[in-house]
Amino acid sequence: MHNNLTAEIEARLPGPVTQLVRTVGRTAARHGFNSYLVGGIVRDILLNRPSADIDIMIDGDAIKLARAIADNAGARLFVHKAFGTARFDLEGYRIDLSTCRSESYDRPGALPRVKPGNICDDLLRRDFSINAMALCINPTDFGVLTDLYGGVADLEGRVIRVMHDRSFEDDATRIMRAVRYEQRLSFKLERRTARLLKLDIDMLDSISGDRLKHEVLLWLTEQRPGGIIRRAGKLGVLQKLHPSLQWNRQMQIAFRRAAKIPDGASANHIYFSLMAYQMGEGALYELLQRLNLLGSKYDLLSHQCLALKNRLPQLDRPLIKNSEIFSLVQDVEPPAVQVNWLYPNPLAVRRSLRLYLRKLMHIKTSVTGNDLVQWGLKQGPGVGMVLNKLLAARLDGEVKTRAEEEKLARRLAAI
Ligand code: ATP
Repeated sequence: MHNNLTAEIEARLPGPVTQLVRTVGRTAARHGFNSYLVGGIVRDILLNRPSADIDIMIDGDAIKLARAIADNAGARLFVHKAFGTARFDLEGYRIDLSTCRSESYDRPGALPRVKPGNICDDLLRRDFSINAMALCINPTDFGVLTDLYGGVADLEGRVIRVMHDRSFEDDATRIMRAVRYEQRLSFKLERRTARLLKLDIDMLDSISGDRLKHEVLLWLTEQRPGGIIRRAGKLGVLQKLHPSLQWNRQMQIAFRRAAKIPDGASANHIYFSLMAYQMGEGALYELLQRLNLLGSKYDLLSHQCLALKNRLPQLDRPLIKNSEIFSLVQDVEPPAVQVNWLYPNPLAVRRSLRLYLRKLMHIKTSVTGNDLVQWGLKQGPGVGMVLNKLLAARLDGEVKTRAEEEKLARRLAAI
């Protein structure tokens, strides 16, 4: 590989984003600083993969620099004073500017102690060699790669390698990140890294609920979360989230089916519920508690999945009426129905759930409560009862037209 990646940067990033990157580099040089693209964007440029976040490190004051270019940047600037970072949003890209730092850990799982540093310190604190490269963006060295830790060799060898032997001990969320990158990129854990991961797996106990949650949710927003969860199960990482969580054949079938449906707004909630589907009430509570997810939408959906799962035996009848399916399923949200459908439940059950999702949940009566009242039925619970019976008749095909519905309504309500 050649050592100047200007052409690759320009090919990967839209023109206005490259312009902004060049402006940052020019302004940094004027202030006497060095500036670099780092982390995922460098990895993805080298792999020729898309990347939506651009991290820029400055060996000087990042906020001061961002403010200096804000007027000419053609992008909105957001400053996070507490973190010492600044962000531009441009063309769907987030461009983050931070100051290079060095980090040390007082104890495993603690957040790092941070000091300003140079680019070498900054790369050394990173998780894996493939994320520890930098591309200079100052004008004189624009596009020059800094690869101090064998990142290019590891991209070529397709391996995930930690930077040093204490890496997982310092920060066990890297265990979860390792699995994520390995599966996303179809790489392998480098041998020593795999050994360290197994040795240090209990360090996951030192990670706070919020940090674990963050990493689990990152798993679920990947393109193939099933592959990540399978691998996490095989490595014993899932069991660290909850001892009863494990990858098995049923989960494999459900995730494989889920991969075929287009991702909707609830995709990561569905994936979470697929992961937790086989847990009992108590274990599910403990998992949600461990991940700080009690009361969240993940909690709600997983509980709805469980509630419906408990009712599945009642759906397991070949001659069940549509109205019976409807009344057993209607109080849970469609994603919970989908999760139960994705699992290898009995055929009759899956057919009913699919029928509900495709057809029954969309069926409405054409007669409304207002109609009934206008025709002389007294307002009150009687209205709801008649409407329910009308809907059941519609679902079961006993009435098909508005006229038939009206006739039935008048008979039921004696009006
Ligand atoms: P992705 O494509 O998943 O967004 P990314 O590499 O941009 O990949 P981020 O989570 O945005 O990932 O992190 C940015 C960079 O910060 C990483 O490339 C890595 O170098 C570093 N980093 C993130 N988390 C850690 C960690 N726990 N320990 C060490 N370095 C980390």
